[in-house]
Amino acid sequence: MVKANTNYQLLKPSYLFSDIAKRINQFIKDNPNRSVIKMGIGDVTSPLIPEVICAMHLAVDEMSKKETFRGYGPEQGYDFLKEALRGYYKNFGVSIDLDEIFVSDGAKSDIANITDLFSNDNTIIVPDPVYPVYVDTNLMLNRKIIYVDGNISNGFLPLPYDGLKGDIIYLCSPNNPTGAVYSKEQLKLWVDYALNNKAVILFDAAYECFIREDYPHSIFEIEGAKDCAIEFCSFSKTAGFTGTRCGYTVVPKNLIIDGQSLNKMWLRRQTTKFNGVSYIVQRGAAAVFTKEGQISVKKVIDGYLDNAKILGEAMRAQNIWYTGGVNSPYIWFKCPEDMDSWDFFDAMLNKIGVTGTPGSGFGKQGEGYFRLTAFNTKENTILAAQKFSQVKNWR
Ligand code: PLP
Repeated sequence: MVKANTNYQLLKPSYLFSDIAKRINQFIKDNPNRSVIKMGIGDVTSPLIPEVICAMHLAVDEMSKKETFRGYGPEQGYDFLKEALRGYYKNFGVSIDLDEIFVSDGAKSDIANITDLFSNDNTIIVPDPVYPVYVDTNLMLNRKIIYVDGNISNGFLPLPYDGLKGDIIYLCSPNNPTGAVYSKEQLKLWVDYALNNKAVILFDAAYECFIREDYPHSIFEIEGAKDCAIEFCSFSKTAGFTGTRCGYTVVPKNLIIDGQSLNKMWLRRQTTKFNGVSYIVQRGAAAVFTKEGQISVKKVIDGYLDNAKILGEAMRAQNIWYTGGVNSPYIWFKCPEDMDSWDFFDAMLNKIGVTGTPGSGFGKQGEGYFRLTAFNTKENTILAAQKFSQVKNWR
């Protein structure tokens, strides 16, 4: 008789966004004349830049002619895109070989699929609060998970401590949900921990394009990281590809665990289970790295960062502790008047018609905190910030 993977029963039902939608719908039903500004969504809203659209149009035309038509491409991505990515990493002083880059349909699938390379008796270290994919993909394999706590005293940037014992470490910087960014010195502590404990760091750089200050964009800026880290990145937030789908993973050839090359294992995994990203999408992605493409994406991201700044000012006006919002599209703040995350959700919705994401949805350490995103329009962000600043009493 067929047996199901009972590990799926270990997963907590994912009610967060459906609960949010339910409460908003009820509010609209009860208050038909009031509008709601949604600041919870972690999805981009600006359209693709003209350089990407133009490159994709040209690629479609190529596909229409016998001479330039393309069928299956290399599973790891076309060299033209990998060359562009290699050039981008050079901006941060990081040198990578083409066969260390693997193009994919996005960071989420790679973060999930990388679990294939490791035995299930590894212990996993994840920060709390956390992007839920790191936790759920390991629960599906019934792996032991240790949480390292983020809180106000460490600025939501947990670091290794004496006695911490784990084999696979998930780090995300700039962080979702907190917007906090690790410094070089802090990342070095994690790299040293990984090297000393023969552990591997899985570094999620999905928001690196928001960094405007002197923080590392890539874990490979840290000495020793090529011996202990894999990096995931994506065009989703960089260039508005959340619906277009393209990402990449860098697996250094130096990375040998248990006598096995993770680069070779990932190549084998991808060529066995994945057939590559569409040529048209990869042409679009490569256009992001042209001179004009870089100017255009910077303009879009600067727009989101301006929104984040507006939200940060609203927090300061109310004397609310917050992090993020400078090198990140996320603002993570302590709910005023010691409210819990859901009580604050209801208070904000009822008092000013603005919504966000309750921090408790990202882990135990998120209780009492709240996430706002900068992906709404400038007009709505200004309006939400004005309304927020005018509240005298949240309870
Ligand atoms: N990593 C983090 C931290 C994210 O927040 C997201 C998406 O929101 C992803 C990865 C997924 O990116 P992609 O759209 O490339 O799958």
